[in-house]
Formats: sequence, C-alpha cells, structure tokens
Amino acid sequence: MAAAAMSRFFNDGQRTITLIESDAIGTVGVGEATIPPIRNFNAMLDISENEFLRATRGTYKLGIEFVNWGKRGDRYFHPFGTYGQDFHGIQFHHLFLREYARGHSPGEIGEFSMSTMAARSGRFARPAAGAKSLVSQIAYAYQFDASLYAAFLRNLAERQQVRRKEGRITDVRRDGETGDIHSVRLEDGSEVEGDLFIDCSGFRGLLIEDALETGYEDWSHWLPMDRAIAVPTASPGPPEPYTRSTAHSAGWQWRIPLQHRTGNGHVFSSNFMEEDEARDTLLANLDGEPLQDPRTLFFNTGMRRKAWNHNVVSLGLSSGFIEPLESTSIHLIQNGIARLFALFPDNPISPLERDEYNRGMRELYEDVRDFIILHYKATQRGDSEFWRYVRDMEVPDSLARKMELWRLHGRVFRENAELFTAPSWIAVMLGQNIWPDAYDAIADTLDEAKIAAAMRQMRDAYRDTAARLPSHEEFLRQSGGWHDAPPPAFTPQAAAR
Ligand SMILES: Cc1cc2nc3c(=O)[nH]c(=O)nc-3n(C[C@H](O)[C@H](O)[C@H](O)COP(=O)(O)OP(=O)(O)OC[C@H]3O[C@@H](n4cnc5c(N)ncnc54)[C@H](O)[C@@H]3O)c2cc1C
Repeated sequence: MAAAAMSRFFNDGQRTITLIESDAIGTVGVGEATIPPIRNFNAMLDISENEFLRATRGTYKLGIEFVNWGKRGDRYFHPFGTYGQDFHGIQFHHLFLREYARGHSPGEIGEFSMSTMAARSGRFARPAAGAKSLVSQIAYAYQFDASLYAAFLRNLAERQQVRRKEGRITDVRRDGETGDIHSVRLEDGSEVEGDLFIDCSGFRGLLIEDALETGYEDWSHWLPMDRAIAVPTASPGPPEPYTRSTAHSAGWQWRIPLQHRTGNGHVFSSNFMEEDEARDTLLANLDGEPLQDPRTLFFNTGMRRKAWNHNVVSLGLSSGFIEPLESTSIHLIQNGIARLFALFPDNPISPLERDEYNRGMRELYEDVRDFIILHYKATQRGDSEFWRYVRDMEVPDSLARKMELWRLHGRVFRENAELFTAPSWIAVMLGQNIWPDAYDAIADTLDEAKIAAAMRQMRDAYRDTAARLPSHEEFLRQSGGWHDAPPPAFTPQAAAR
C-alpha cells in the first residue's frame, strides 16, 4: 500500500522508491474485512472498483453482524452509514428513543438504516450520488483476499517505477551522529541507502523497534486477546454483503464471505482459553469445508510509542495492532500513508511535523481502541471468567466518559477526527442493550403524532427500497466485479505463512 501510494505521487525523478520484501518471510496474510475509507485510498490511486474486486475476489461489505455479544442469543447489526433522518436539527436517535419511551414500538433501530436493511436481505446497490432515493444512504466497504490485494498493489507500484528488491534484510546501519537509519543490508550483501524509511516489516518492527528501540505501549489489560486461529472454508452459498462476528466464551469468531471462499478465524485470549479448545471451537462453528489446516497467529494489542521515530515511519503491524473486531488495521495503514503525505518531510526532517504525525496517529489509535473496548465492556454476559473480566474491568477515562454521556441522555459526540461516528456508537450501545436513562428533552418539542407517522413512513420506505435492490451476487456479476475464473491456488508462499 505504501509503495503503491508513494509511487503515485513521489516517483517524480527527484526521488526514487525501493520496496524490499522477502518471499521467505512472507506476509501475515489475513486481513479481509475493511471499512469505507478504503474507497478513498483506492480512488487516490485511480483504481477501478470492478477491476479491484475481480483481482481480489472481493465482495461488498455493508457492516458487521454481531452475535452473542450483549447476551448469548442476541444479534445486532453495526451498519456503515446513518440512521433515519434528523428533524429540525434534532438527531434521529433521540426521536427513536422518545418513541420507545412513549411505548410506540418504533421497531428496531436497524429498520431505519439502509445498509442494515440491504444486508439483512442479502442485497446490494451502489449509492446513487445525489439521488433522492434512500439508496443514496448506502455506505459500504469491501471484503477481499488480502494476499491478492497486496499482489495487485505490488504490480501497480512496479508499473509506476518502484524498484522492488527481493531478499531478507539482515543488518541495519545507523548514522553515528544523528542516530537516523543510514541503510539496510540484505542477505546477498547489497546495501540500500535512504533518506526516509517506511517500516512495514510486520509485528517485529525491524527498524522502528529492533534498530531504534522505540518502545511499545501494551493495551492487553483492556483487550486481552492475543491469538487468532484462521482457516478458509468453501463458500456455502452466495456471499453475504457483510462480516459476522460471533462471540464465544473467551473471544469471538469472524466470518468473511469472499467470491471464492469464506474467511474464518477465532480471536481469543490465551489467558482464558487453551489453543486446542480455541481450535475445536472454531472448527465446530464453520459452515463450509476447511480448505487448509488452521494456523495460529500471535499478537499483542497496543501501539508503538512513536509511530515515526528519527527517519523511520512505521506502518501496519510494525506500528501497533488492535484486534480485527471492527476491521480497522488496513485503515490505520492507509490513514498513516495519507497523514504522511500531508506532512511529507524535507531533508532534514522537521521535528514539529514528525510530532504532529505522532500526535494524530496516537489519537486515531486511542479512539479505535476505545470503540473496540466498548464491545467488551457493554456486555451483560457473565457466563465465563473471560466475560466477567471484561464486563467488570476499568476502562480508559475517555471511554467511561462517553458511556456515561450516553447513559444519561443518549448523547454521543464526535470528537476531533474520530473514525467511528455517532451511528456506530449508537449501533453498539443499543445492540448490546445499553439504553439511556432518558432522551434529549429537545425531542419533546416536536409534534408527537407527526413524528410517529413520519417514523412509520420511514421504516416502510427503508424496507421497500431494500426489497427492490438486486441480490449481492447479482449486483457483483452485473456490474462487472465478479471473477468467473477458478480461484488461484494457494501459493507456497501463502502456505508457509
Ligand atoms: C488475526 C488477524 C486478523 C486480521 N484481520 C484484519 C481485518 O479483517 N481487516 C484489516 O483491516 N486488518 C486485519 N488484520 C491486519 C492486517 O492483516 C495487517 O494490517 C496487514 O496484513 C498488513 O500487515 P503488514 O504489512 O504490516 O505486515 P506483514 O503482513 O507481516 O508483512 C511484513 C512484510 O515485511 C517483510 N519483511 C519482514 N521482515 C523482513 C526482513 N528481515 N527482510 C525483508 N523483508 C521483511 C515481509 O516479507 C512482508 O512483506 C488482521 C491481522 C491479524 C493478525
């Protein structure tokens, strides 16, 4: 991603970009679900949506269905996009809460979300720009094969004159005076010098940590997940336009439908569950034939103390990791790239600009962290040691404040450039049975009968509009995003990961 994006803007004759990768090491290879800003990243690179979907065997994603989170047996949908329509500047959810409080049974909040209603019926259409139709409220991202996306971007980068070097970096040389990275040496003895190094070396953080010893802030007391067991399965039917997350007794299982297979994985905490049990739980909850042996991935939730240190910008797993519950990692990379472009340095690097980058990345990471913790804290489950731990744990002050503001009068505010906006917070709080004590009294200033009628009309309109959309697979095929050829075989590199 970094090489492809940099080659789009900075391969201008004055600078050269070298991409170093090692097939022997390979990539982590998972990371199949995303959030809507990926569309901006692809657009920045002039990538055609259909070409991208065909190349990555991708599907559309309208949100995430959460199963067993608030209580066992519960099910709710966290959609992309908004809920309903505000009235006279009064937020829709206050009207919804008012209807509930007055016993008018407005239905579920999901019935007022275009993305939810389309997802529930397995349908999809792209939002019609500027149209009055409710279809314009659809917001979407993608589910795809991460290895194929990496290959697609590598080709793009190479077409844009990025020089790719295959080989393992075995040594890093620092400048004796400044402490900056001067060059990296590869196994074959060659050396690559650079002014700016982007460390995309994965969890290890070859430059940012091994060489610069930047330090890591550990968040595992709030997010105790530290392992995932992943296994792809054959598709049981047409792909759904959404990801599913099913909570188990010490973690949760993802299900991500692609064109040619389904991605599955069990994210769990080794403090609360043995690996054998986690594997058995995963295998017992699949709805298709496994295509590979399950493999275990290890991680540690937290972030690098500085994402940019000296002349090294860490991106991806080398800069930190927050479990994939809301599919945010690829976004954190793409946001890091966009932020780096906005603060692209001269030589020498300005410490002020570097600090600004680090400030912004920290804010983004902490906001995402809080939103993920919410899913665990806002539970009524107490059926295992794990659920009792997360239900009763102290959460960061920033999250405690947000939860209390919601509990008092259903208030949610977007702070700074927060990634997850009010509808996301509302989806998870209501979905996990956290109802506020009261709604905003301003909602009482509107005529009761008028609002009740408008709510009914709105609900019918979302339902009827969803029913008229094409099925997800039909849309993919008709619009040119479906790849008819058999799926690519797993490469030896992928198998070795
Ligand atoms: C269980 C799990 C589930 C995930 N699910 C999602 C998801 O649904 N959505 C999402 O957005 N993200 C998800 N992610 C995150 C996503 O997988 C990563 O953000 C993404 O794959 C990027 O990884 P990376 O490039 O930082 O690291 P890696 O994939 O580990 O790549 C590291 C690269 O560095 C190279 N390298 C390393 N050391 C050397 C060396 N010494 N010499 C030369 N080259 C070297 C390797 O060859 C490789 O190319 C998930 C992650 C995990 C662990």
